[in-house]
Amino acid sequence: MIPAPVVYEGKIRAKVDAFAALSPEQKQGSYWDKTDDGDLSDVKKHIKDYYIKVQDHVCPYCQQKMVVDHNGAWDAEHIIAKDARPEFMFEPENLCIACKDCNGEKSNKNVLTNPQLKRFPRNREAYLICHPHFDQYEAHLKVVSNPLFFIPHTDKGRRTIEICGLLRFLYQVSEYGDVPVEIAGEIGTLHQDFGDANSGAEQVIILSCIRELCDKGIDEARRARFAQLRKPQTAEAA
Ligand SMILES: [Zn+2]
Repeated sequence: MIPAPVVYEGKIRAKVDAFAALSPEQKQGSYWDKTDDGDLSDVKKHIKDYYIKVQDHVCPYCQQKMVVDHNGAWDAEHIIAKDARPEFMFEPENLCIACKDCNGEKSNKNVLTNPQLKRFPRNREAYLICHPHFDQYEAHLKVVSNPLFFIPHTDKGRRTIEICGLLRFLYQVSEYGDVPVEIAGEIGTLHQDFGDANSGAEQVIILSCIRELCDKGIDEARRARFAQLRKPQTAEAA
């Protein structure tokens, strides 16, 4: 579902226009994080509340639905990072909400095929990732649950997985912490194979291998965690 872009009116519009009128030197990504500017807080709240509503509490990258009314559960997300291109900070189609994990993974990573572009690009070809406003998610990625993972249909799908760290759902298979690095690597390779699989039958086999690896990952992570929990006690005793 592609959300309609946020609209600015009245006081909100005036604040956004005031930012647009700043000199290029004054337009910094850190502007967004100022905590002593009530008008800015109003703009940010307007943006976040709006996108939480129109996106129906769904993260545009991992597609996880989180029905939490407190808007602190979400991050306002700049699709082109605000630190890289502060001039696009309030561009309605450069904004959405994302879950904190996707936003954290994506961070300041480049999402443009040409990072030097002067004007805000509205064509989907300008983006490496599946764009929340310009792309149909299903055209690029399929979400499979249990274990939760993502099948890329296109290069954009692959880059979205990479840039938003979507393999984390396979890596963080339990509350016992990260799975061992070799298993994470194997899952990554299988995931790649899954995208390249030629038939449904092949996908089923790969999927069952991924499930098995996840289980193994949980087991090993649990064992490692258990060993770690025991360590300090042993040290104290000694
Ligand atoms: Zn997400």
